[in-house]
Amino acid sequence: MNLRKQFMVKPGGKFRLSDHDPDEVCNVDEKKEAVELTLHLTGRLVHLQKVLYAEHKRSLLIILQGMDASGKDGTISHVMSGVNPQGCYVTAFKEPTKVELDHDFLWRVHQHVPGRGIIGIFNRSHYEDVLVVRVHNLVPKDVWSKRYDQINAFEEILAENNVVILKFFLNISKDEQARRLEERKIDPEKSWKISEADEAERKFWDDYQAAYQDAIGKCSTKYAPWFVIPANKKWFRNLAVSQIIVDMLDDLKLKYPTQVNLAKRNSKARQ
Ligand code: AMP
Ligand code: MG
Repeated sequence: MNLRKQFMVKPGGKFRLSDHDPDEVCNVDEKKEAVELTLHLTGRLVHLQKVLYAEHKRSLLIILQGMDASGKDGTISHVMSGVNPQGCYVTAFKEPTKVELDHDFLWRVHQHVPGRGIIGIFNRSHYEDVLVVRVHNLVPKDVWSKRYDQINAFEEILAENNVVILKFFLNISKDEQARRLEERKIDPEKSWKISEADEAERKFWDDYQAAYQDAIGKCSTKYAPWFVIPANKKWFRNLAVSQIIVDMLDDLKLKYPTQVNLAKRNSKARQ
């Protein structure tokens, strides 16, 4: 089961969001099995993050996007459970402030990109500037339409400077969103999450799907691929995201630094 290959959006290919089933569980039909596999993977992630931190050469940027109630917060708390908080931080991007709006759209994002050895998670990201901004015409089309290339160029700069980028779209269905928003109304542990905007935004479902389809299709690159994660089942979503992260970190062949490397790091040479 190579979930990384299966859910990665091929760079340059034709991408249609409707080809992706939010209910897919890839033959893992038991929640219990998925939870056990995920536990194993999150354990490995704890170890890999330790080495990433010690090696201090590269960083990992995880971008999470999805409709309201798609599970961005839940994914973070499940997948990162156990990871040393010293080497990991989350940035949630909300509506830009006045100061942020006085700058280019990437300005507020760049300063939160993780430094060497760190895992940085973006709960929403610069992609909002081609999603909510496009759906609500917050800037003219000739402004947002240029942003796909600008995003690709920005992410390429990061990748060339040792930032490994993984982007996840948590794909839920419209019915599942309705169910989750209803649940928020009755569950006192979830009702704090209700936002007046959620019901209003739901009316723009199709516009958002079109905006996501373009963002994912145009910005899935070799150096910063998009993954479309079936997210109707939370247990499968957690399994898929953790497996893709662990796979990617495995590929980096992370190593604890040797004494020679440490001596170099402590010298003035920039590396
Ligand atoms: P939440 O993630 O539920 O706390 O909501 C954050 C809100 O901020 C969402 O409604 C986003 O659409 C909005 N938001 C995030 N980034 C931007 C942006 N660049 N422009 C406008 N709205 C944004
Ligand atoms: Mg919300």
